[in-house]
Amino acid sequence: MSFTLAIVGRPNVGKSTLFNRLVGKRLALVDDQPGVTRDRREGDARLFDLHFRVFDTAGLEDVTDDSLEARMRRQTEAAIEQADAALFLVDARAGVTPLDAHFADLMRRARTPVLLAANKCEGKAGEPGLYEAFGLGLGEPIALSAEHGLGMDELYDFLRPLIEAKEGALYPDEDDAEAEADSGEEDEGEEAPRGPVQLAVVGRPNVGKSTLVNRLLGEDRMLTGPEAGITRDSISVDWTWQDRAVRLIDTAGLRRRARIDDKVERLSAADSKRAIDYAQVVVLLLDATLGLEKQDLTIARTVVEEGRALVIALNKWDAVEDRAVALRQVENRLERSFPQTRGIPVVALSALEGRGLDKLMRAVFQAYEIWNKRLATAPLNRWLQAVSAQHPPPAPGGRRIRLKYMTQARSRPPTFAIHCSNPDDLPPSYLRYLENQLRLDFDMPGTPIRIHLKKQK
Ligand code: GDP
Ligand code: GDP
Repeated sequence: MSFTLAIVGRPNVGKSTLFNRLVGKRLALVDDQPGVTRDRREGDARLFDLHFRVFDTAGLEDVTDDSLEARMRRQTEAAIEQADAALFLVDARAGVTPLDAHFADLMRRARTPVLLAANKCEGKAGEPGLYEAFGLGLGEPIALSAEHGLGMDELYDFLRPLIEAKEGALYPDEDDAEAEADSGEEDEGEEAPRGPVQLAVVGRPNVGKSTLVNRLLGEDRMLTGPEAGITRDSISVDWTWQDRAVRLIDTAGLRRRARIDDKVERLSAADSKRAIDYAQVVVLLLDATLGLEKQDLTIARTVVEEGRALVIALNKWDAVEDRAVALRQVENRLERSFPQTRGIPVVALSALEGRGLDKLMRAVFQAYEIWNKRLATAPLNRWLQAVSAQHPPPAPGGRRIRLKYMTQARSRPPTFAIHCSNPDDLPPSYLRYLENQLRLDFDMPGTPIRIHLKKQK
């Protein structure tokens, strides 16, 4: 019996879309109208190196006299009983609805392991819904985008141990090495997920993107994609760099797809936006002979705002006369433009000559690690006490704002919640102070950091 995963959730949260992505075929009908679904679908799913059966719960078209809740309950209970694990989807854009809460109740009572996922989390529109989903009492939700393939490595991290427990280790030899690696780092929470790093190379026309990508992939490198189920639309290429898996987003492929889908010519700005949506780490490639221009800053700002890890690469280094000046100019301009994201890595290279590529990839993996960073609650709260003692928050109307408690709500990018007495009165400058200190004290250069304030009496 192979391992089975049930995808559960109210209509329209994206179950079919996720099913399609995992199964890799257009088996299921996807429709905007709630309730139009169909029979229960089941298929062979593939997620990186994992193989399992997946089904999503039946539709609601069988109108009976029962209440909606009663039918949902029956279906859901049957599904989670039959499955080895369940993925519970909510729609982060729509927020948590009473029906979601009803489902959550069922899920909490199940013996089957449940992973909560907030779908439609590409971009920022999903953020409030992601936070609401915490309130469902099913632990920390993962941020998913079934449509854009985000969150797949978290799903992988959830499934892999369960599948191994049922079917035996996928790579028996690997376990010892992992155990050793685990015992090495303790305080900083979980290690980085094992899925590939999703990488996009963006930049203005002619900076050398194609040259760089061809260099990186090189004819002698192993090309393993596109894989059914993950990169159906062949918008990415899987490859490895010194034994680490990388999924390179193919911007040209994205553009082709957009043209087919929308029948509109897209500007290159839209291409980069799309690549950024798919990526975890974005390399912004510049022509070092031209420096950092306004258009580059706009792209960089989008990367940071979308919460992706950014690496700046200065290409055509071979053609630069005064390298010290060129580097300083870019670094200064970055510092001025991103005072809140100090330490964005800058790497010089020549795609043409194939120089600086190792340095670039090291910077990419390092940025990825920082972006994945997890801080434990105890040191965070010691830190909060220390920084707020050193520089106390203001006291509007004579009542000092108290910062009570802090947790890391999620990673990728590092996102924190601080519970405080009067969040609305805390000035932005104080929040910036906290952010800067946090970045320094916990060594998170260059990554976007988010802090959310929560009211607590
Ligand atoms: P189901 O009823 O739960 O099976 O949901 P569907 O898979 O049919 O999706 C419902 C709607 O949500 C469709 O219009 C999808 O295109 C859309 N959708 C699914 N996943 C995503 C996503 O990750 N992001 C966004 N923005 N829309 C999505
Ligand atoms: P794209 O439009 O960003 O994909 O840029 P291309 O890869 O097509 O490169 C544009 C031009 O820049 C081509 O003539 C390349 O040969 C040249 N080029 C790319 N990388 C380098 C480099 O490292 N040094 C120099 N001198 N020229 C480069």
